[in-house]
Amino acid sequence: MDNYNKDKINEIADLNLESKIDEGKIIESVEKILAAVGENPNRQGLRNTPARVARAYSEMLDGYRTDPIKLLNGAIFDVAYDEMVIVRDIEFYSLCEHHMLPFIGRAHVAYLPKGKVIGLSKIPRIVDMFARRLQVQERMTRKIADLIQELLNPYGVAVVVEALHLCSMMRGVKKHDARMTTSAMLGAFRSSMATRQEFLDNISRGSTPLRF
Ligand SMILES: [Zn+2]
Repeated sequence: MDNYNKDKINEIADLNLESKIDEGKIIESVEKILAAVGENPNRQGLRNTPARVARAYSEMLDGYRTDPIKLLNGAIFDVAYDEMVIVRDIEFYSLCEHHMLPFIGRAHVAYLPKGKVIGLSKIPRIVDMFARRLQVQERMTRKIADLIQELLNPYGVAVVVEALHLCSMMRGVKKHDARMTTSAMLGAFRSSMATRQEFLDNISRGSTPLRF
């Protein structure tokens, strides 16, 4: 990976590799929240809740500390293949940055290689890296596309993300607003309607609506 523009990759990845989750502070804060909502933090069922929440956040928000260059090391290959590569139905779980509630769904990713391909298992890991943060769906969609564009320099990248937002569903806003679709189309997927359509036809084939 020596010939990659690491600064550009790190800028897109928006990392904070040196940061550490302060679990002690989360524990204190959750104790305060429990008291603030009128709970008794000492009752049996809640006694270990602050520590559990701290561990859960550590895991759910580790995307800032996932170095994409390490993640991808050795998984980008020179290949003379120029047909569309599509990975669809990538499950992801993220937290909306406005309410810290989950939004969950699936991502569909495609690119048109220009001499380079990426190991298939790596694309879901890129999605995860951006999902495991405080996010907005639009930014996550765009970042996945930008990172793949930067890594592979393909003829084009397309990303479609469909998700259900619990902050809308649980808070009694109209339920049909809870489902959102976002997309990012770069290069040939933007300039060629036929290319874009081939991708959209593929991801809609046999797909089932998102639901819980
Ligand atoms: Zn929200």
